[in-house]
Amino acid sequence: MEGVRAAVAGGFRVTTNTTLFDGADPNSVRAHFDELMATGVESMMVSPGYTYDKAPDQNHFLGKARSRKLFRAILSNRKKSWQFNTHPLFAEYLMGKQDFECTPWGMPTYSIFGWQKPCYLLQDGYADTFQEMLDTVDWANYGAKSGNPQCANCMVHSGHEASAVDYNFSSLKGFVKTAKRYMFPSMYEDAGAQKLLDEWPVAGHGPLVQIGDKPVAVVVTTSVNEHASSVAGD
Ligand code: SF4
Repeated sequence: MEGVRAAVAGGFRVTTNTTLFDGADPNSVRAHFDELMATGVESMMVSPGYTYDKAPDQNHFLGKARSRKLFRAILSNRKKSWQFNTHPLFAEYLMGKQDFECTPWGMPTYSIFGWQKPCYLLQDGYADTFQEMLDTVDWANYGAKSGNPQCANCMVHSGHEASAVDYNFSSLKGFVKTAKRYMFPSMYEDAGAQKLLDEWPVAGHGPLVQIGDKPVAVVVTTSVNEHASSVAGD
């Protein structure tokens, strides 16, 4: 939070991206949203952490059912002060109110190695051009419906927010639905979600441990555009 406050005080437009893993306390996350908005953050993104088979601690990734429960608890009954920098239908997807398949090429990753196949989470090779990537990836092998175990529990925004945007612009129904969400934003009143919050077990946390003898810089700049920057808030 010190980095966020410093960026806001420096006159930057600050948005945050918070990734949640199993064990996240929705009440704590909601309090974190309050704190971020009070600090002067412009808007917030939130996404479940990606479950991948090489992760050292498999116990702390969220399956889809647990992700939906967690995000229903967090994003229902939301505060008017909360501003999100995310497609409203993607947020509904996280809450279990929409169903989207993955669009892996929707937010492609380019690095010194080239265009990463098929998405920034998986590394099934690289292509020299975006067109080459489109032409050489067997897209039927990716997304939950493919049966690819690497995609089974994935709900991350890189593949699924792109699907929400595609739905938004590729059908009249999607366009009207999205327009309504922006024109008449819902607070998603949900008594069941409030009950989830009230009954959510408080997770025990050990004491914070300082790594090394000096404070570690934790500000992560993911994009800088003129006078705008993005700072990781998780
Ligand atoms: S579901 Fe999509 S975004 Fe997620 S790992 Fe698979 S291809 Fe990548």
